[in-house]
Amino acid sequence: MNERTLAIIKPDAMAARRAGAILSMIEEAGFRIRAMRLMRLTRAQAEGFYAVHREKPFFDSLCRFMTEGPVIVMVLEGEGAIQRWRELMGPTDPAKAPEGTVRKLYGTNIERNAVHGSDGPDTARFEVSYFFPGVELVE
Ligand code: GDP
Repeated sequence: MNERTLAIIKPDAMAARRAGAILSMIEEAGFRIRAMRLMRLTRAQAEGFYAVHREKPFFDSLCRFMTEGPVIVMVLEGEGAIQRWRELMGPTDPAKAPEGTVRKLYGTNIERNAVHGSDGPDTARFEVSYFFPGVELVE
């Protein structure tokens, strides 16, 4: 199924100048980049984006991390894009990530893990429209 998912290159990977390497991995994996923006998230934008984690003990730290520098937010499209981008990213904790995944290569710890990807169709719909209100999610 052709899908769209939201990807973010997080502030740690941006500061480490890994954006180009990560974009290369995305292109080589065959995703189409359908929207892309460089931005510095406000605290309110970070809190809104991660609202499902509001009660978690790491919520404040996560929002501080996500606002500490610029990020690249983008919409990736392709067959099974949601699951395929999750697989290319690797699991949340880089220490548990398989060789060759973005988080294994460029993540530092469970918080500073280089990239974000939507975890399902409902989340993708919310997250794409959060940053790109004009982009419709292809079912
Ligand atoms: P994801 O879907 O793999 O990004 O993971 P989650 O949705 O569970 O968490 C969102 C983000 O919160 C992660 O990508 C991390 O940046 C951060 N995070 C998740 N779990 C932890 C944790 O246990 N501690 C800290 N400090 N941050 C976490």
